[in-house]
Amino acid sequence: MKLTGKIALITGGSRGIGFATAKIMSENGATVVITGKDSKRLEKSVLKIPNSIGFVADIRKTDEVKNVVRKTIEKFGKLDILVNNAGIFPKIKQLHEIDEDEWNEVLDVNLTGQFRFTKEAIPHLQKTSGSIINISSDAGLKAYQGFNADAYSASKAALIILTKCWALEYAKYKIRVNCICPGVVDTDMTKQFLKTQQDKDFMDNEHPIGRIGKPEEIAKAIMYFVSDDASWTTGAVLAVDGGESIK
Ligand code: NAD
Repeated sequence: MKLTGKIALITGGSRGIGFATAKIMSENGATVVITGKDSKRLEKSVLKIPNSIGFVADIRKTDEVKNVVRKTIEKFGKLDILVNNAGIFPKIKQLHEIDEDEWNEVLDVNLTGQFRFTKEAIPHLQKTSGSIINISSDAGLKAYQGFNADAYSASKAALIILTKCWALEYAKYKIRVNCICPGVVDTDMTKQFLKTQQDKDFMDNEHPIGRIGKPEEIAKAIMYFVSDDASWTTGAVLAVDGGESIK
């Protein structure tokens, strides 16, 4: 068990990649704190993950973020791992069709939300020489013709450079900060692109390996980064994407 005794906080852990990550970390001995916006879904998810607890929090609200970290420390006394996973995908629109509220909403969740959690977690991670994983995207690595989700791409690209900034700044505390860029993964987020068999075939073929990913395949990469197997790895950006980003 690679994470025995570790306390891990996973934002957006009630479903998709966050849920798969919480599950694999729990199976590896960690105690897992998951957050989400929907209390019923969070309760259901907690029941499926041994040694887990759920805290409802909207990542857009600083007070709620602070509350999650405070309650985690009150209950478990420390924090070892933060997975900045919560995110949203906007309605597909060209840049000139997006209004400012839509733009701000995506950045508020996908970028400022990660800032809020990281800011609160850092003082505790300094004490444990902990680890942070940022979940970016292939959309943060390269431009895709017809993708039309500019705020999303901008938020994910920003997370890549923040990974490097935070890794450099906090290495003196032995905090490791790494980043994963998934390709298209089969979750609620991507259902809108995968409605018909034709959509699915198209998306499978977009990935050189010949299929889209499973949440567990991202979770296993996250497990590597937070475990001692990656004890000398910080500031790394790993595409886990069936080869999509090398095209
Ligand atoms: P998902 O929609 O299944 O899950 C997203 C999670 O984020 C949910 O738990 C949701 O409750 C939480 N969330 C959303 N808005 C929130 C808010 N305001 N406050 C608190 N929590 C909020 O998505 P997923 O596919 O599992 O995505 C997880 C992460 O992976 C996201 O950051 C996403 O951008 C990234 N990602 C996903 C894919 C993919 O193809 N699925 C590809 C690249 C990157």
